Amino acid sequence: MSTVDLDKIVSLCKRRGFIFQSSEIYGGLGSAWDYGPLGVEYKNNVKRLWWRDNVHLRDDMVGLDAAISMHPKVWEASGHVASFSDPFTGCLSCGRYYRADHLNEAIWNSKWFESLKRRLANEKDAVAALEKWAAGDGKKLAPNLALVQRPDVVLALWKTHRANYRFVQSEFGELLDGIARTPDGTPHNPCPNCGGQMSEPRPASLMLETFLGPVRETATKTYLRPETAQGIFVNFDNVLQSSRKKLPFGIAQIGKAFRNEITPGNFTFRTREFEQMEIEFFVVPGTDEEWHQKWVDARFAWYQNYGIRKENIRLREHEQDELAFYAKRCVDVEYLFPMGWSELEGIANRTDYDLKQHSRFSGRTLEYFDEETKQKVVPYVIEPSAGADRSALAFLVDAYREEQVRGEKRVVLRFHPELAPTKIAVLPLLKKNSKIVEAATRICHGLRKHWVTVYDDTASIGRLYRRQDEVGTPFCVTVDVQTVGDENKPPDDEVTIRDRDSMEQIRVPIDRLEAVMMDLMAGRWAKAYSESPKQPVAGASA
Ligand SMILES: [Zn+2]
Repeated sequence: MSTVDLDKIVSLCKRRGFIFQSSEIYGGLGSAWDYGPLGVEYKNNVKRLWWRDNVHLRDDMVGLDAAISMHPKVWEASGHVASFSDPFTGCLSCGRYYRADHLNEAIWNSKWFESLKRRLANEKDAVAALEKWAAGDGKKLAPNLALVQRPDVVLALWKTHRANYRFVQSEFGELLDGIARTPDGTPHNPCPNCGGQMSEPRPASLMLETFLGPVRETATKTYLRPETAQGIFVNFDNVLQSSRKKLPFGIAQIGKAFRNEITPGNFTFRTREFEQMEIEFFVVPGTDEEWHQKWVDARFAWYQNYGIRKENIRLREHEQDELAFYAKRCVDVEYLFPMGWSELEGIANRTDYDLKQHSRFSGRTLEYFDEETKQKVVPYVIEPSAGADRSALAFLVDAYREEQVRGEKRVVLRFHPELAPTKIAVLPLLKKNSKIVEAATRICHGLRKHWVTVYDDTASIGRLYRRQDEVGTPFCVTVDVQTVGDENKPPDDEVTIRDRDSMEQIRVPIDRLEAVMMDLMAGRWAKAYSESPKQPVAGASA
């Protein structure tokens, strides 16, 4: 299991301004989260690195930013309208929803049924037990249950049909039939929450519907996209014609997607609104398997390049019965989240299914003409589909450490410098010394042109270091009396740089600060440390 508790991550995220619950002052909106001042910087870094590495650093990729709302036919062609659903049932009294295939389990484990089971086990006479329960605990726990609302009618039936009734678990359904009935006597499933009548199960579309236009009756009903992929498929020909790309090539997109999950949860892991980072990579049929493997390897390496430890990440091959009917192969990148191994990214070989579907539904040909072979082909598609929120959560969980420094606990986010929301903190050692404050301010403004840099003088230096450790700032620059000099000593025009991970410190001339920082951001602390005058190590309690 992961060694980090999810609650600790949630609490750090709130305390330090990474992630807040949506609409918290109104009691919060379930499963929606807002990225705060540090969170937005951090998540932008995740997206920027993904874009740089997958689009800018490759010859065979271009980007796209499609609209969230799309023509309703898109979702018919993609198969989402027909089959993107889970069965659900709702209570006609209290309005709670349950997955239909999980309802019996929910009733069995509900508060009111637990209490009824206890009563039935303690009383020999079942009718007497039901009667007492209906007049007591039943009233509080299952106010909408027929047995509680109309005990005389319901129990009259019991007396005639089940005179010698004994409760046994295997006949759980028979008990429910007896105590949950409509006024005309028809048995129904009782609500796990209140005992009320549950609706007939029906498929719950995972699609969030919306209406474009001022008058609902005449508006166009469409959906908030459940994935960004379709925006790429429908633009395949536009991109091909405008960019003159040759196969193989890919289109990348980062954007929001929406799924009306019945059971969201685990912080930002499963939410109804989320952000995807998707690639559709088009290849000549026959080269698809080779390209699929290349993408699996590239994406697996990507997470590790930015700090995910290799013991916390793995690949999982989909079983044949897990695959969508059109998919040839799918491999998940999984991360060891606090709740266990879960999907971080899926890399699928979707064959030519999507382009052919859109061709059929739109009547437009979506093909590629190969100049060399003088043949038309419908490309196969390799889809590496990652979650921006999930990636951000995984990098954060992996960076989280609790360390002992001279008998004190230090919480530190060991972010890769490229991921860290703040790169540098400039800290004046004495905030009452105007020369120090002036120099620190000037240094801060200079560094800001290249890196996200903050200035903080609101606590003692030890506390300031701890604060920056906790939000993952890789380097602190301290300005002290030596820097600016005093009546006894001339200024040395040098500052101290402290490394977050080793807590080592070096002394660097101000006019070389930017050059040294450039090196440090590229991961060359050890080199800089060996070449510079050292300062004694100041730990968390300095
Ligand atoms: Zn209910």
